[in-house]
Amino acid sequence: MRTALIAGNWKMNGSLALVERFAQAFVETRLPAGVEVALMVPSPYLDAARGAFGGTPVATGAQTLHPESNGAFTGEVSGAMLAELGARYVLVGHSERRSLFHEDDAAVLARVKAALVADLTPVLCVGESLEEREADRTEAVVLGQVTAVLDALEPAERERLVIAYEPVWAIGTGKTATPEQAQAVHAVIRSRLREYDATLAEGMRLLYGGSMKAANAAELLVQPDIDGGLVGGASLKVDDFLAICQSA
Ligand code: PGA
Repeated sequence: MRTALIAGNWKMNGSLALVERFAQAFVETRLPAGVEVALMVPSPYLDAARGAFGGTPVATGAQTLHPESNGAFTGEVSGAMLAELGARYVLVGHSERRSLFHEDDAAVLARVKAALVADLTPVLCVGESLEEREADRTEAVVLGQVTAVLDALEPAERERLVIAYEPVWAIGTGKTATPEQAQAVHAVIRSRLREYDATLAEGMRLLYGGSMKAANAAELLVQPDIDGGLVGGASLKVDDFLAICQSA
């Protein structure tokens, strides 16, 4: 009943030429039915991506937004601006934002709310560090990050989220969580969602991210509580990304 979502996260990579290359591939390749595909491109490429992917089923998304809708915040971009450029999704709380840009749970919550106001779908990213996993704190950390946001939302707002579980130790490291490790954390998240509401838990898409690639996507995506992927490095290569989409 949940539509799979494969989302690429280009991070601060790519070019207008790469947008064109992907657009060409999306036109030439039939994407699997029943799978949603999105690319979170750097914000300056959103307009070009909207134009280039028009006529294909691929949606666009951004990687961050400012909590305010406008004002004296030099260098920042608001949700309304992203929406105006055709973005459907926006990543919030990616581990690189949390660690490199010091976005704590309060900052993440403010951005989720701003995304909802702008009619964007927030993809809330959560995940534990290696030290936290080794200290047996994975569940506490992940559920802490999830509830810091969901506790503060109205029921109707919660239903508009996607959650991505991305163990920090697996991001960009080539070290993927095993399907069992990933499924276990997804199941924990889903059972916590049931405490809010059974329908919310059944409907919410939980993506796995962290060194997902063509070679491991199928075994991850077949897990009962994994509803898609958030793909970093492998989303910069057309063939790899398409292969992941095909395995969903
Ligand atoms: P990766 O990145 O696939 O390169 O590990 C995932 C992410 O950061 O979203």
